[in-house]
Amino acid sequence: MNLFRNIPKKDKLLSYFDLSYNRKIISYLIDNELDLLREKIKNNEKVEINEANFSSNIKKQYNDLIEGTLKYVINATGIVLHTNLGRAPISENIIKNVLKVLSGYSNLEYNLDLGERGERYHHAVEYLKILTGCEDAIIVNNNAAAVFLINNTFNRNKEVLISRSELVEIGGSFRIPEVIKNSGAILKEVGTTNKTKISDYESNITENTSMIMKVHKSNYAIIGFFEEVDYKDIPQLAKKYNILSYCDLGSGSLNHIKNCNEPLLSDLIGYGYDLVSASGDKLLGSAQSGIILGKKHLIDELKKNQLLRMLRVDKITLAILQETLKLYLLEKFEEIKTNQLFSQSLEILKKKATKLKKLITKIENTNQLDIEIKEIETYSGGGSCPMITQPSIALFITHKSLKPHLLEKMLRKFKPPIISRVQNDKLILDVRTIFEEDLQTIANGLSWAINQLL
Ligand SMILES: *Cc1c(COP(=O)(O)O)cnc(C)c1O
Repeated sequence: MNLFRNIPKKDKLLSYFDLSYNRKIISYLIDNELDLLREKIKNNEKVEINEANFSSNIKKQYNDLIEGTLKYVINATGIVLHTNLGRAPISENIIKNVLKVLSGYSNLEYNLDLGERGERYHHAVEYLKILTGCEDAIIVNNNAAAVFLINNTFNRNKEVLISRSELVEIGGSFRIPEVIKNSGAILKEVGTTNKTKISDYESNITENTSMIMKVHKSNYAIIGFFEEVDYKDIPQLAKKYNILSYCDLGSGSLNHIKNCNEPLLSDLIGYGYDLVSASGDKLLGSAQSGIILGKKHLIDELKKNQLLRMLRVDKITLAILQETLKLYLLEKFEEIKTNQLFSQSLEILKKKATKLKKLITKIENTNQLDIEIKEIETYSGGGSCPMITQPSIALFITHKSLKPHLLEKMLRKFKPPIISRVQNDKLILDVRTIFEEDLQTIANGLSWAINQLL
C-alpha cells in the first residue's frame, strides 16, 4: 500500500507549470489524473509514477482542452450530407454576410415599422413564399420538432393516418411512431409493410381522423412487390373528407440535385398539401432547422401553441437560413456549398484526385504507397435519395506494410482530423467532399500518419 505514498504532491506538480498556464484548468486536470492514479493503485493495476511524464501528459491534455472538442475536420468520405460530420457545410460568404447581424443587435423580434415588439418567425418567410408558392411558413429548431409540433397542434387525441411502410426510424433516436405518440396524437397505421393503396387510407377515415401524414422514407427503400400512394394523391383524398394533409419530406430541396430525383418543396405545395416540413440542413444546405410550410390559418394555429416557445430558433439559425434562401432566390446555386459539392462533374473530380495524388507522391514517407484513382459510387447522405448513389472519384490507397485501418485511425488523430474509410482492404479518399484548399493538408496528414506508424 505504500504505492499511495509515491503519488506526487499536487503542489509539487503545479510547480511544473509556469504562469502562462491557467491555474484553474491545470488544477482540474491534475486532480483528475491523481484520482485516476489512486483508482489504479486501489485496483492493483500496474502504475508508473514519474513526475516529468505526468506533467507532460497534463500539458498535452491542457492543449487539447484549449483547442476545444468541436473542431474543423476534413471529410474524405464523399458523403456530402454526413450527419456525424455536421451535415451541410455553410459557405464562407454566408457567414460573412451574417457577421454584422450576429455580432451586434438586430430586429429579431422588433417591428421596425411600428416601433414595437415583432415576431421572429416572419424572417425568411417572404423568401419561402416566393420559392415554394406556400401561403405562410414558420421555422423551428429541426424537422423532428416540426413533426412533433404539427402533431401536437392538430392531432391531439385524434387519429393521424400513416402508411405502415413509412413508420421509419431516422438517425437512431427519431422514430415516427414514438414522436407521434409523445405528441399526444393517435397513430393509425394503414396498409401493409410493402403495399399501401389509396383505399387503405380511405377505409380508415373515421369521425376521429384529423390528418393523413405522408413521410419520406429517407434512409431505406422497399424493393420487389411494392406499392405506395403517390405524393399527389394524398391531398385530394384529405380534401374529400375535410381532413388535413401533411407531408414530412425529410430532406427538402429547392432545386434539382443531379442524380437525386426527389420532389421539390414547391412540388408538394403544388399538390395541395396543407402542411409540408423539411430539414434546413439536408439537401437545402443551410443551418439546422425545421422548415414548416403551409396554409396561413394553420401556421397561425402553430404559432398559438405554447410548445413553440421551446422549439424556437435562434437568431444564428435565422440569419444563416435567410442568407441561404436569398441565394436560391437569386439563383446563385453555386454559392451554396452543398449544391456546389453535388454539382462537381467527374472531370473536375478527376482533376482534384490527380492533384491530390501528385501532392501525396511528392511528400516524404509516401514511396511505399500504391495509389489508384478510380470511379466510386457514394451515397449523398442526410436521408436523401436512399437508393441512388452519386458517381464520384476516389484515391484507393494501399501501403506495403501498414494495414489500411491503421492509417484510417491515425488520420483521425491528425490536426485537422481527416475522416476517410476502408473498403476491400484499401484506404479510400473520396474527393467529392474534399475542398481544394485541404489537398496539401491531406498529403501532410498521410505522411504524418505513416511516420507515426512505422
Ligand atoms: C431527417 C428526417 C427527420 C428529422 O429531421 P431533423 O432535421 O434531423 O430533426 C424527420 N423526418 C424525416 C422523413 C427525415 O428524413
